[in-house]
Amino acid sequence: MIIAIDGPAGSGKSTVGKLLAEKLGFIHISTGALYRAIGWKAAREGIPFTDIPRLLDLMKRTQLDIRRGKNGSYEVYVDGVEVTSVLYSQEVGNLASAVSAIPEVRDNLVQLQRDLGSKGNVVLDGRDIGTVIFPDADIKFYLDASPEERAKRRWLELQSKGISVDLDKLTEEIIQRDVQDMSRAVAPLKKAKDAIYIDSTGLSIEEVVEKMLSEVEKKLSMRCNP
Ligand code: C5P
Repeated sequence: MIIAIDGPAGSGKSTVGKLLAEKLGFIHISTGALYRAIGWKAAREGIPFTDIPRLLDLMKRTQLDIRRGKNGSYEVYVDGVEVTSVLYSQEVGNLASAVSAIPEVRDNLVQLQRDLGSKGNVVLDGRDIGTVIFPDADIKFYLDASPEERAKRRWLELQSKGISVDLDKLTEEIIQRDVQDMSRAVAPLKKAKDAIYIDSTGLSIEEVVEKMLSEVEKKLSMRCNP
């Protein structure tokens, strides 16, 4: 079974994706990690995102891998080195958003995402999982929340790590990232026609996971009693 969760930055896709996968005994993969890895490595090498040939060369010589970590969540490897925590800063998120708008970069990552998902019993989260990567996914969710709520969640998460940032600036960045992800020419963020829409504004993580689980159970019982 393949479960797709798409939605904007900060909607809680990876948090609920991880929990949902745990409850089902599935693997969870956050596909944004791949774009983060490419954006991060390109920035480290000083490659401008306008230089498509150099970006493509970088992708050719970069080995990306996502493996199940010790505590059950995934770990991202770039050229054999585990870099998961490095990739999850606001700055690398913005680099990922910029690099993911380049059609050649997206094309290059399609097959890898399909290979990662094709092992089955997997929860994949991203922006185009239900629309492009796995249009025949067994269940598709589109997880949303207001920009203010998403920025607040991110702010709380950073605060808990001792990082203090301006909430208004964070809200502005989230809105900016939405515009970038929704307006790009290739694979823009949008709800697949057959995706189940969940607005998580005002809902707890557990409530969202419960909603998703009940949809998965419905689907499974329909399969058993067609
Ligand atoms: O989900 P996450 O915040 O890690 O994704 C980082 C960026 O990667 C997103 O803002 C989006 O632009 C891009 N992305 C994408 N397609 C995906 C996953 C992520 O374009 N399937």
